[in-house]
Amino acid sequence: MKILVCISNVPDTTSKINFTDDHKSFVSAGVQYIINPYDELALTRALEITEKDGGSVTVINVGDASTDATIRKALAIGATDAVRINAAPRDAYFVAKQIAQYAKQHAFDLILTGRESIDYNGGQVASMVAELLDMPSVTNIKLLQLENGVATMEREIEGGKELLTCPLPLVGSATEGIAEPRIPNMRGIMSARTKPLAVVDAVDVALLTEVIGYDKPKTRSNVNLIAAEDVAKLVTLLHTEAKVI
Ligand SMILES: Cc1cc2nc3c(=O)[nH]c(=O)nc-3n(C[C@H](O)[C@H](O)[C@H](O)COP(=O)(O)OP(=O)(O)OC[C@H]3O[C@@H](n4cnc5c(N)ncnc54)[C@H](O)[C@@H]3O)c2cc1C
Repeated sequence: MKILVCISNVPDTTSKINFTDDHKSFVSAGVQYIINPYDELALTRALEITEKDGGSVTVINVGDASTDATIRKALAIGATDAVRINAAPRDAYFVAKQIAQYAKQHAFDLILTGRESIDYNGGQVASMVAELLDMPSVTNIKLLQLENGVATMEREIEGGKELLTCPLPLVGSATEGIAEPRIPNMRGIMSARTKPLAVVDAVDVALLTEVIGYDKPKTRSNVNLIAAEDVAKLVTLLHTEAKVI
């Protein structure tokens, strides 16, 4: 079983989000980066599968050298080896093209991504990779079992759950429930230093999207507390300030 797990390098969830003065880019100075949490779940499930049935787990990231620490963490958690496609990720199609190009040359049985990255939240890469490889894709997988070359999956849907099967190879995106994240132990951290991390040149891809700008949400105005018995004031404020009546 050869599994490829796509990992995105994202700001720690406690990071302060700021944009450059021209509103075109995220300010990454002083920001701590981590493995995208959904990708950690995908990685853990991939490891559980290969620990039971044998095989290998390769992690892939599209990023510059600054992502190597995140990739080493994935190796410390247990991935067999890693690949970094040496390019700054600038849109989901660009990322998907790079991953698909690598996957085409290495015949993986299963390609797992996270449900979405927690920074740009596109939720697009898995489906794009599947399309580019002409493979089936299933998103938001909560449970994943493999037997005799067939994946059985559970997805959460509005008011219930969906059970489905699909023959491998398959591209799937992982969500909560698929596995519990693993904390790397000392042995894993030590062995990660010497595990292979291949750096591969990116293929040329024309970007399909262009970001016009980023903005933070407006800061919320203060809460105006009105005494329960002061209905007249409430009505006045709803009329003059909130302008809803
Ligand atoms: C330094 C930096 C600058 C950026 N600048 C821009 C910019 O100017 N404009 C812009 O639109 N976007 C920018 N991005 C974001 C980049 O475009 C996204 O990483 C890409 O669009 C993927 O989309 P997403 O993050 O929404 O992925 P989603 O589709 O939400 O991700 C789903 C899954 O795909 C996989 N995945 C996502 N990204 C990667 C990756 N890089 N490597 C491997 N697997 C991955 C992960 O498994 C992830 O869980 C920047 C990112 C970085 C790190």
